[in-house]
Amino acid sequence: PLGMMVVRFAGSKTAGSTTASNTATSKSAASIRKTKEHLEASSDKADKELTDILRIVGTYAGAGDRYKEALAKNNNKLGRNIRPDQVKQVVRTLISDNQNFLNDTKKLSESLEESKKKIEELRANLTEAQEEVFRDALTEISNRRHFDTILKRETAEADKHPEPLSVVMADFDHFKKFNDNFGHQIGDEILKLFAKLMSKNIRETDTAARYGGEEFALIMPQTDTKNALIVAERIRRELETKTFTIRKTGEQVPKMTASFGIATYRRGEGGAQLVERADAKLYEAKQAGRNQSMI
Ligand code: GH3
Ligand code: MG
Ligand code: MG
Repeated sequence: PLGMMVVRFAGSKTAGSTTASNTATSKSAASIRKTKEHLEASSDKADKELTDILRIVGTYAGAGDRYKEALAKNNNKLGRNIRPDQVKQVVRTLISDNQNFLNDTKKLSESLEESKKKIEELRANLTEAQEEVFRDALTEISNRRHFDTILKRETAEADKHPEPLSVVMADFDHFKKFNDNFGHQIGDEILKLFAKLMSKNIRETDTAARYGGEEFALIMPQTDTKNALIVAERIRRELETKTFTIRKTGEQVPKMTASFGIATYRRGEGGAQLVERADAKLYEAKQAGRNQSMI
């Protein structure tokens, strides 16, 4: 068997070691299936919980009615000229009816409390499943779907307000050759480490995404070209200075590099055009010899 391969990011503050045991494709297919099952199970459970609540509320209403009837009956008995032993009897019945009612309501409020807990659990499950839909299974940063969603939102914002919005596209240099030399699994580990490196170098309001394959992207609101370039260069230089060791064999992996293309939003052009311009700059960076950023 292939076993688990581990790549270590030497000299990185955040780097831990990570393991891979599967390919990216089958991982994401499995993740989508899991999310789908997750959502279906949550939906079934939510249905069941709602049915339970309706039943509980129905019983609660019924208990109230029964208590009202019992009171009315006793009230009728009290209406006439009655003897002390009869009063005693009515009081005894009232106490017992009241006890029954209290028991009923206690049980009902316990059931409602339990349902409330289950619903909170379901809500947490649903939030988790929704987050999974937007996460890349391999690198755990935003996936393409999330990138598209955020880009749509941010370009709409940028159409309304004068603040700059920049997009950075990044692509590994000669990654095919790297995979051929070291295997797809080691390649995957490098992609994971790069995702961490990107995330570490951006602001809270920025979005780092795996755009596809060995291509990554940043959406940077309130960031002009100059500042987007500073961030891209920081990431590029950090990648360039890393050394990678395959833990199992102690083998040193040659220097990894990536190229970056940057574009800043022109009001009204839309997200697709913005990405296309960043992509064109990335292509220029490749043409100019790779391992550089183009604006
Ligand atoms: P360039 O410098 O021009 O970008 O060369 P390149 O080899 O990086 O570019 P190309 O687009 O020809 O090849 C991209 C390679 O990235 C091909 C594929 O094997 C690899 N790749 C894409 N997705 C994944 C992935 O999820 N995991 C791994 N390990 N490799 C991937
Ligand atoms: Mg490439
Ligand atoms: Mg590529």
